[in-house]
Amino acid sequence: MNLNLPITSVRGVGPKTAATLNSVGIFTVRDLLYHFPRDYEDYQTLSSIVDLRPGKVIIRGKITIKKTTPSRRRHLTITEGVVSDQTGAVRVVWFNQPYRAKQFDPKQEYFFSGNYEFKYNRYQITSPSATQVANNSPTPDQIQAIYPARKTLDSKDFKRILSSLKPLLADLPNLLPPFSPPVPLQSKLSSALSPTSARPPKLTRAEALHNIHFPTTKDDYQTARDYLALEELYILLLAARLNKLNLNRLTAIKITPDIEKTKSILKNLPFTLTNSQKQAAWTIMQDLSQSRPMNRLLQGDVGSGKTIVACLSAAQAIFAGHQAALLAPTAILAAQHASDLDQILKRMGLKTALLTGSTKQKPLLKKQLQNGEIDLVIGTHALLTDDTLFKSLALVIIDEQHRLGVAQRQKLLSKSHQYSPHLLTMTATPIPRSLQLTVFGDLDISTLRELPKHRQPITTKIIKHLNLSAELYPKITEFITRGEQIYWVVRAIKDDPNTTTASVEKQLAYLKKLFPKFRLSALHGRLKPLEKEQIMQDFAQHKIDLLVATTVVEVGINVPNATMMIIDNASMYGLAQLHQLRGRVGRGKLPGFCFLIDQDEGSSSRRLRAMEASTDGFYLSEVDLKMRGPGEIYGSLQHGALDLRLATLSDPKTTRLAATFADQTLQTIKTHPDYLNQHLELKLALQKYQQLTTLN
Ligand code: ADP
Ligand code: MG
Repeated sequence: MNLNLPITSVRGVGPKTAATLNSVGIFTVRDLLYHFPRDYEDYQTLSSIVDLRPGKVIIRGKITIKKTTPSRRRHLTITEGVVSDQTGAVRVVWFNQPYRAKQFDPKQEYFFSGNYEFKYNRYQITSPSATQVANNSPTPDQIQAIYPARKTLDSKDFKRILSSLKPLLADLPNLLPPFSPPVPLQSKLSSALSPTSARPPKLTRAEALHNIHFPTTKDDYQTARDYLALEELYILLLAARLNKLNLNRLTAIKITPDIEKTKSILKNLPFTLTNSQKQAAWTIMQDLSQSRPMNRLLQGDVGSGKTIVACLSAAQAIFAGHQAALLAPTAILAAQHASDLDQILKRMGLKTALLTGSTKQKPLLKKQLQNGEIDLVIGTHALLTDDTLFKSLALVIIDEQHRLGVAQRQKLLSKSHQYSPHLLTMTATPIPRSLQLTVFGDLDISTLRELPKHRQPITTKIIKHLNLSAELYPKITEFITRGEQIYWVVRAIKDDPNTTTASVEKQLAYLKKLFPKFRLSALHGRLKPLEKEQIMQDFAQHKIDLLVATTVVEVGINVPNATMMIIDNASMYGLAQLHQLRGRVGRGKLPGFCFLIDQDEGSSSRRLRAMEASTDGFYLSEVDLKMRGPGEIYGSLQHGALDLRLATLSDPKTTRLAATFADQTLQTIKTHPDYLNQHLELKLALQKYQQLTTLN
């Protein structure tokens, strides 16, 4: 069966359904098969109401709706009902599903499946799914897959469509190669993980895909998940290995480092490099002197001093007679880098330029880039236009790499003529070790472990929304009166009817009333670039005391006099992002303070408590990976790309087995270059992941 066939070839998928499926990224039969259930309803566990125990439950009974009420909080309706069977009755509650009030016929029986829990001083089933009991209803020995809904298609639709694929599942070839025991010579990855005897999976791919959709026992779907997670990791690891193989086949410009000139740059700096910085700069110089393109990630916590390492790297390319480009995620950050780097480099007679959307005289700048007058260009996406050409681009540096899309990176890399430029990416969101070995297995990584000396500590504290006037407002007055500055980060720009989050403008107006004597201003992504620059400049020059902003201030902004960071609705953010935001304070002579405003009244989330407990970005990124999965860490741009469905990258046993398979296939590909053309499905799957970290 050809999995590449369009979904319209599936029985029961008409043009309308197909259009909806397409719009959520499901195009082929394969995409459908890999739309996995999000959960299962196990009718083997159907219980009588009298026997209910807290946890996931299924009951069968009739329902009476008691009431629907808007709650104290805005935009929330609560629908309550009582379900009864012969043995008893139980309360059920839905949030924001007002249609539930009219959905049920009190004379009919329904299955209700949900979480039975103790909440607000009584037991209830929270937001259960409901299916009317009918002739074709599941019998008590069945397990039903529950699919994630997509637009107008609900779980039942997916079930129907997938059922018609059932007969076709039988003769699917495996993607995993036939298992052969690992050879003693082990990869870096295998040796890094604890030795366990690798055992081949018990299933075939066809069986796994069958069982994940149509299990008859719990064990069925669990082993199916394990198998498909292994398959997923295998593809990921093999993609990374192939990238490295391809990279080694490209040619880059060899750059011989200029030690004397580098020393003279260092002599003029107001500080001496930390050991980590020296080590990283040295490693990069070694990379640059090779004829194979560097593909290195420089990771270091906020404030660890990555910029100067980037600057020294760019300088080598320029000393050797070539050009470098630095790409930053925001115009504000680009402008800041440009002014910092220009200060350092112009003493050496090197010419830098800033190129962002609001740059005037773009044509002139572009001409100077093309004829080589400009040595280092610093910019945003404006650098990526087709008419931005270089005389000899030898090095591309990307700051905060996770914010740039893959396509954008490739665009920049394509600007070098017959050579591949060296690539240095920088991030303050450290990559957890498990990901370093898997997703980013083809990247070389340098880490700035230490912060420059005399870095000020940052104290973090959670403040409940209700306690703002008691705990936070007096501090604001105190800090501003002392001459220090404050960031107040809020989430949305305009009032969003779907959230209770205060908008920037509303928050500004509110704070202005509270603090009429202070100078308050607002910054967000929808301002014109020039307005943004002006406000940032005003803040940097202390013409503003408190800046209400969206997360545009997240990366790289350096205003040493700002000592307080307030993050509204802090539980809406990931740890990595909170940590980045927090890194905007404590950058000068004074210690920094970060206040996380928690809207919830109960106990604060693990995430916020982790923030309070630690300022170590490496530790936090591991915590984040465990709690939220890899996609969340690398920001929305790479979301889709890193959307691992089943694999947990922190599972060493599966990872090790997947690595064994990947090594095996890599060897096969090396000796049989045509292997992937004979395994087109594998080739296609690999291509998706190869995009992630690839250079060309
Ligand atoms: P990040 O790694 O977050 O990009 P930056 O490169 O912006 O950090 O550096 C933060 C600040 O620390 C800058 O003002 C920079 O000049 C300063 N800095 C960098 N290296 C050192 C050092 N070795 N000693 C003291 N200060 C340093
Ligand atoms: Mg930086």
